[in-house]
Amino acid sequence: MGLEAALPVDGFLTTQLRHVINWARRSSLWPMPFATACCGIELMATACSRYDLARFGAEVMRFSPRQADLLIVAGRVAIKTLPVLQRIYQQMPEPKWVISMGACASTGGVFDTYAVVQGCDQFIPVDVYVPGCPPRPEQLIEGIMMIQRHIDQEGLPPPGGKRVPLGLAVAPTHSVRPQPAGLTVGI
Ligand code: SF4
Repeated sequence: MGLEAALPVDGFLTTQLRHVINWARRSSLWPMPFATACCGIELMATACSRYDLARFGAEVMRFSPRQADLLIVAGRVAIKTLPVLQRIYQQMPEPKWVISMGACASTGGVFDTYAVVQGCDQFIPVDVYVPGCPPRPEQLIEGIMMIQRHIDQEGLPPPGGKRVPLGLAVAPTHSVRPQPAGLTVGI
């Protein structure tokens, strides 16, 4: 990575163990995708070559909760699916984080119906909310970077006891244009 070239061959670095642990932890978030709907497609796009989630060390999707420390809820959660989501969360080892991706996961979105959970944060602690329908990959990456910054500052969940979610929200990346937008046909 060029570090060897910048340092003398027999040089050495000193640091604190907690900094190294935090650096390793934030550079290797392993997501557990709970993708139930269209937001899941955007989640897949985040890992593709165009957006390259690997730049942030978070591209290693795990499909076993025991190997994951970042739960990404992408899409609506049906009442019938809720026990599965809760079990997955409980099976993930600490420290762990949760991202609620998109309007449906955070609020139920347009599905204001008895069959859809009106916000997964009613049942599991959510650390970062990513707004949008669907959010763009850049927004999801920003949400992951929020958690990375938190880990950098040693913001680990307190051991034992009740889990306190971070409750952060990614700001929308666009400003709404006046509607109806102007229509241009041809050149
Ligand atoms: S927020 Fe929009 S894009 Fe995401 S799952 Fe709901 S309807 Fe689909």
